[in-house]
Amino acid sequence: MTKPSKRIIGLTGGIGTGKTTVSHYLATVCHIRVLDADSYARDAVEKNSPILQTIKERYGRDICLDNGELNRKKLGDIIFNNSQEKRWVESQIHPYVREKFKQEMEKSQEKIIVLDIPLLFESQLTHLVTEIWVVYCSYEQQLQRLMTRNHLTEEEAIARIKSQLPLEEKVNQADVVLDNSSTLEALYQQIDQTLKNG
Ligand code: ATP
Repeated sequence: MTKPSKRIIGLTGGIGTGKTTVSHYLATVCHIRVLDADSYARDAVEKNSPILQTIKERYGRDICLDNGELNRKKLGDIIFNNSQEKRWVESQIHPYVREKFKQEMEKSQEKIIVLDIPLLFESQLTHLVTEIWVVYCSYEQQLQRLMTRNHLTEEEAIARIKSQLPLEEKVNQADVVLDNSSTLEALYQQIDQTLKNG
């Protein structure tokens, strides 16, 4: 098991508030190991995986692209408008992701490790970490950044934001709030300062 002195940072926030921007900085500039829940979740449903097979059985073959990979846009449209289906899909993927985290943390020797988990609260994974960092920006910025990056309509972006726990509730439960309402430079300064404060 991991030693208690280890600093395990749970990095989270709202969709599109800047978690990837933060984790990229932590990994490439601060040289801190980052484990990424989204990448494990992608592995969970890779082509020919048992979980993708189960998803196909529920939604039909059309949930996959012609090349056999999951059609993420299609699944997103189903689950972001239907909380029951969202829960079902998550119940398939989350155990795989949790197991991957456990395996990697048991192997790791680092003093600080970051778990990048967009749904840290929603998936009840807070027990895995020793501190929680929430990346925050205003609702208007979140909406705008999400629409621009993912080429979504306002309606689609709102459905995705609404499918998560409200950002304010995450902020209330955070040990550290990184305010990403301003420039990237300002964000990076907050990260440096927080790491220094240890
Ligand atoms: P998701 O939850 O969808 O994975 P995320 O929280 O990881 O999103 P990012 O991908 O880091 O968010 O950021 C969302 C978008 O906003 C990206 O296109 C990113 O380049 C942009 N962005 C992040 N921070 C800023 C900033 N301070 N100023 C302007 N644009 C920003």
